[in-house]
Amino acid sequence: MAATVTERKLLIDGEWVDTGAWIEVRSPYSGEIVARVAKAGAAETQKAIDAAEAAMREPLPAHQRAEILVRVAGYLGRRHEEVAQTICAEAGKPLKAARLEASRAMSTFTFSAVQARTLTGELVPMDASQAGVGKLGFTLRQPIGIVGAISPFNFPLNLVAHKIAPALAAGCAVVLKPASQTPLSALLLAELETEAGLPPGWLNVLVGPASEIGDILVEDERVKLLTFTGSGEVGWKLRERAPRKRVNLELGNSTPVIVEADADLDDVGERLATNAFSFAGQSCISVQRIYVQRAVYDELLARFIPKVRALETGDPADEETDVGPLIDRESRDRVLEWIDEARAAGADVLVGGELEGELLQPTVIANAAHDLRVNCQEVFGPVCTLTAYDSLDEAIELANGTPYGLQAGIFTSRLKTALAAAARLEFGGVTINEAPTFRTDQMPYGGVKASGNTREGPAWAVREMTEERLVVLEL
Ligand code: NAP
Repeated sequence: MAATVTERKLLIDGEWVDTGAWIEVRSPYSGEIVARVAKAGAAETQKAIDAAEAAMREPLPAHQRAEILVRVAGYLGRRHEEVAQTICAEAGKPLKAARLEASRAMSTFTFSAVQARTLTGELVPMDASQAGVGKLGFTLRQPIGIVGAISPFNFPLNLVAHKIAPALAAGCAVVLKPASQTPLSALLLAELETEAGLPPGWLNVLVGPASEIGDILVEDERVKLLTFTGSGEVGWKLRERAPRKRVNLELGNSTPVIVEADADLDDVGERLATNAFSFAGQSCISVQRIYVQRAVYDELLARFIPKVRALETGDPADEETDVGPLIDRESRDRVLEWIDEARAAGADVLVGGELEGELLQPTVIANAAHDLRVNCQEVFGPVCTLTAYDSLDEAIELANGTPYGLQAGIFTSRLKTALAAAARLEFGGVTINEAPTFRTDQMPYGGVKASGNTREGPAWAVREMTEERLVVLEL
């Protein structure tokens, strides 16, 4: 079903702006036009930054920021189905997953409101040094300034929420550029912010050519922080180009999971089948590399493969669908090419590996060499690999053998093994007896190595979006 939205303008300085040029948003499933969105360029980006600057001259008190955020969470609840349908229509995300995303965004706003009400500095124990005797020292958390936010296509609502809600909680105005393929959820969110009473200029949403808008966000010194979620290729370049800004990066992964022989294999088979293929693998922490202790390799296969075969591939708007389309044909063809490369190199495609109509089937590959792209790069498609290992040391070495470091997981019933793995896996997060695709919105979430340099989750993001100012008072 198409979204109810058919035409959308941009939000700049509290006005809905029609630029006279349009971008078409198409369904990744049917190719049909879902909506047209006004197209921004450099001039609109400058106007949006001007508006954000003007807004921040009159700070909003914390209670007001919190009330607005709570109201948005409530509106997201009231319009939950419309929001989910919008995500489904523009991203091709199966409705089941789109509904979850809509619920999670409510949670992101709710946790951000808590941060708005509780954000404080610290008391400094001044008389702990001789020179400090007779002085009171404390820190204030000041909003860092205008936040430039750039978000990807794969969570078009909740990853936008993870940028704008903490920024508003911190007292920062935002200029947001959502992904061009999926701008509708962001614009719907902007509408809810306006309805919730957010004054003009605090949130500005621009849709248009990435480099044109991105260049201004990088170059304009009034933008103090860039928060970027997307590919490493784009993210690290942004950081290089903006050495004097804070540039927070949430990037990709090639997500490994280790299955020890003592794990509950029924449970593992179920969880991995869901988490390798949900939203056709287009999550930054989609299970991609599965390492199984050799003694239970065949047993796990016997449990996992039928679950993969049972996944429903089809129209994302269908209530039964588990696996829908990739975001575009180019992405689909790239993933097919990587599968073919693995096949040609002697790997075994156990399930899938072909098109079903226009859709790529959920695909499981065994015996793929470590240096094949399906293993060593981020697939971002419905593909996972299975590899047998002998010792835990070997499994950890294989899991760590990637430039990425976002999340990893281990399944085992031994506490000692679990904690050893948690300490040795070089990732921002490690899940134990849960797929590494797991995330709730209050967690500190982010990567090490090539996967990024920050943590999202409102309590962490708000700290990034504020600066500590020391105040010393002579008593
Ligand atoms: P992408 O191609 O890097 O795009 C992300 C955003 O950057 C889009 O808004 C895009 O705009 C914009 N962009 C592209 N070139 C730009 C430039 N030169 N200057 C400024 N902005 C630019 O990534 P994607 O394909 O949308 O998303 C997939 C990637 O995101 C995967 O690697 C995935 O792992 C990662 N991801 C990470 C997390 C996390 O939290 N760690 C979460 C989700 C996704 P246009 O759409 O207009 O091109």
